[in-house]
This record gives sequence, C-alpha cells and structure tokens, in this order.
Amino acid sequence: MQDGLAAGLSTIVDSSRVVTAPAVIDRLSHDFYWYSPVLRPRLVDKTGDVAVQPVSVDEVLAVLRYAGLHQVPVTVRGAGTGNYGQCVPLEGGIVLDLSLMDKLEEITADGVAVCQPGLRLGALESEARKQGWELRMYPSTLVKASVGGFLAGGSGGIGSVAHGGLRDFDTVRAFEVVTMEEEPRIVKHEGPAVHEILHAWGTNGVLTRIWFALTPAIDWVQVTVAFESYDQAFTFTESIATDPAWTKRLATVFEWPIPSFFTPIKKLVRDQKSLALVMIDATQLEALATAASNAGGEVTFTGPYDGPRTQPLLSDYTWNHTTLWAMKADPAFTYLQCGFSATECRNQFRLLRERFGREILFHIEFMKNGDGIVIPGAIPVVRFTTEDRLNEMIAFCRSIGVFVANPHVNYLEDGGRFRPDNIQLMAKQKYDPRGLLNPGKMISFHKQGVAP
Ligand SMILES: Cc1cc2nc3c(=O)[nH]c(=O)nc-3n(C[C@H](O)[C@H](O)[C@H](O)COP(=O)(O)OP(=O)(O)OC[C@H]3O[C@@H](n4cnc5c(N)ncnc54)[C@H](O)[C@@H]3O)c2cc1C
Repeated sequence: MQDGLAAGLSTIVDSSRVVTAPAVIDRLSHDFYWYSPVLRPRLVDKTGDVAVQPVSVDEVLAVLRYAGLHQVPVTVRGAGTGNYGQCVPLEGGIVLDLSLMDKLEEITADGVAVCQPGLRLGALESEARKQGWELRMYPSTLVKASVGGFLAGGSGGIGSVAHGGLRDFDTVRAFEVVTMEEEPRIVKHEGPAVHEILHAWGTNGVLTRIWFALTPAIDWVQVTVAFESYDQAFTFTESIATDPAWTKRLATVFEWPIPSFFTPIKKLVRDQKSLALVMIDATQLEALATAASNAGGEVTFTGPYDGPRTQPLLSDYTWNHTTLWAMKADPAFTYLQCGFSATECRNQFRLLRERFGREILFHIEFMKNGDGIVIPGAIPVVRFTTEDRLNEMIAFCRSIGVFVANPHVNYLEDGGRFRPDNIQLMAKQKYDPRGLLNPGKMISFHKQGVAP
C-alpha cells in the first residue's frame, strides 16, 4: 500500500515532502499518548503508512481529494504534543503534517492574529509581544505546539485564569476548514460556528487559516511562594485568582511532594512545603509579596517574563508539564484532568484524600469558566496501579461532583470537551460522511448505512 500511496501523493506535492522512512513515519504518527499507562500499549504500534507535508491550502485540497478517491484515512498532525494519542492514526493511511504551513499573515490593528495552522504558539507569542499584544492563553507546550493543534486538540492553559478556555469569550474568531467531502472545499466558520470544529481532533475538517484573538501585552513577573500546608497555599492562590483586582496570567498550587520533582528549580522549592506559582502584573509585585507574607508564605523567587525563552520559565512546571516532571521522578505516576467546585472544593479534596490517600496528589490550575467564574481546575498527579483502580478514582470524582475529562481514552466523547449539542458530530456527518478523517476518534459517528 505504501508504495502506491507515496507514488500517488508525489504527483500532488514535491516528492521530498512525501515521507516513507519508517522511523520518521513512526515519529510523526505519535504524540505524548505514553503519559497514559492505559493508552501506551494500545497505541505504541499504530502508525500511518505515509506522511505528507503540504505547503499550501491547494495542496491540502489535492491531498484530501486524492485520499477520498482512494478511500484512504487522513490524520492531521500539528506538532504532536497532544496527550491522548489524538494524532495517532488508528487505521493507517496518510499523516497530514502541517508543520510547514506556519506563516503569520498579520496581526490586525484590533489584535487578531491571522495565521496558518502550523505556526508555533511560541513564535506567535514572541511576535505579538513585539507589537504590543500577547496570547490570551497558551498550553505549557508553548514553544513547540502549533496554533492549529491547540485549537483542534487543546483546551486552555496559562492565561485561562483571566481569559477562560479556547472555547470561551470569542477568542477563536474564525477559521477556514478544508472538508473531506467528495469534492473537498474550503469553508469559513465564524463566531458560534467555530464550535462545530473546535477541539474535534481533526475528525471533521482540516484547519488551514485561523483568526485568533490576542490581548494587550502586560509586563509580567513570575513569583513562587512556599507554604507550610497545602491548605494555606490553596487559600492564598485562590484569593489571587478570584479577586479581579489582581491582574494575573497564572495561579497554580502544588502540594508536597510535587515541588520536589522540579529538579531544575530546586532552589525555589522548600522541603516539605506546598508551592504556589503566580504570574502577576509587575506593578503589583510589592502588594503580592505583602499578601503572601500575610498568608504565612515565603516568597522564594521573583523574576521577569521576557517571552517564551525566559529562564526559568515557570510555566514549564505547570499545566500538563507537572505530570512530565512527576513521571521523570517516578514512572509510576500518571494524571487526571479535573474541575473542582468553586464552593465545595475543600470538601472534595477531603473526600478524595480519605478515600485514596496519597495515591492522588493535588495540583490546581485556577481558570475562568465560560460564565466568568474562576474555578479550581486541576491536573492531579496520580499513582497508577491498575486500570480498574484508575476508573474507580474517576467514578468517585464524578460521584462527588468533580468534573473529569478522562485522559486515558482515545476518543473525543469521554475526553471532556465533546459538546452535548452534537454539533461536532453533525459537522462530521456533513464534512466527512465517509469517515476518513482521523477514524476511530469520534465514536458516536457511524458511516451512512453502517450499523452502530
Ligand atoms: C507536557 C505537556 C503539557 C501540555 N499542556 C497543555 C496545556 O496547558 N493546555 C492544553 O490545552 N493542552 C496541553 N497539552 C496538550 C497539547 O500540548 C496542546 O493541546 C497543544 O496545543 C497541541 O498542539 P500540537 O500542535 O502539538 O497538536 P497535535 O498534537 O499535533 O494535534 C492535536 C490534535 O489536533 C489535530 N490537528 C492538528 N492540527 C490540526 C489542523 N490544522 N486541523 C485539524 N486538526 C488538527 C490532530 O489530528 C490531533 O487530533 C500538553 C501536552 C504536553 C505533552
């Protein structure tokens, strides 16, 4: 199959951009799926047959037309930093690597970046800050991840405490999508119509041009504060996160021993103490230090943020990077993605500790939800024993009102961002009726005439 496919694709794009080397295809077929001990054995052997690297939307259209004609699956890849095997092809076929489509067309006068999908978020953040703007939110994979991959696979990150997630507050203004219809075409989605495609893992269209709203740049300072107890650290960080008087980009809490995993910033950590990480408007630094001291904390570090290359870049220890450091310290660790109740969270923490002890370690990321309420989002570090035990923990979380987006499944529906109004599914039925885009990842979709 590979030879015929490669030969066919080489009539569409320059053969230097049709990849057949097994090691490269293997790399381009995988992401950080191995974070999950459940997904690891299931996805390790899955690969595409060929990877192709288009440089223009015309080439994307031609590749999809070819794939449709020959009934070959197509799985899109941005930078491959997704966590759940989102870009791992389950049924072989073509890996559509969009990393060469990485142009920033412009930043408009009102702060909207117009770009191609392969543009790296870090590059966009750097350029935007030169022009007085910055990203509203970004994943902790800022330097590597692409704008298209973030919109199709991510949810939020640093900045979400002020600006919510990707699906909130009109941050994703519009995009053009190439469809997998019999005759592929470019369709522009604007306003509420973006939600048909957003976070659908490339199952219902290929994003080729994006309008992404930015926010005016702020002179940030990064701060770490150590506290005797998790409770103190949580209460302090909650007060910063929820009080609109503070201008912040990050409000994170780790209970001990999570800070002990951060080997490169050991000097900022205090033995046995919980740690808060905050990015705050530099003009508020003095007030923050006073608030920290009043709350019983010790400020262990303050430093400027000068863009993605800042050292140390505290966001490298937050969001899902925390899990990476934990796994480096002990490969038996994995994680969950949770949302605690803004009002009941202390009780929820207590119930989880009573039931699971230190099998679950609290890592909180405060974020604003779509209603404008700041809630304790969380990516707790979890000690893995068996899949059953992990599922028991997920079920218990849900039974006490803790939202869980399950990162140990490889399909959209249980991943927490699938829309109950089914608009992503309806877009799939419309734009990919033959089920060729990233097959197996939207399990509620069935090809016409094929029984569920
Ligand atoms: C250490 C670590 C930390 C992370 N932290 C965060 C975080 O803070 N917040 C967060 O939201 N995520 C986080 N992630 C997940 C991931 O890094 C982000 O979602 C990232 O934005 C994905 O971008 P990517 O370019 O690597 O996408 P990929 O992994 O390449 O793709 C993600 C999904 O989008 C699809 N896709 C890619 N490009 C397109 C396109 N142009 N059109 C249609 N579909 C497309 C792919 O098929 C795949 O299903 C983290 C992951 C790791 C490993």
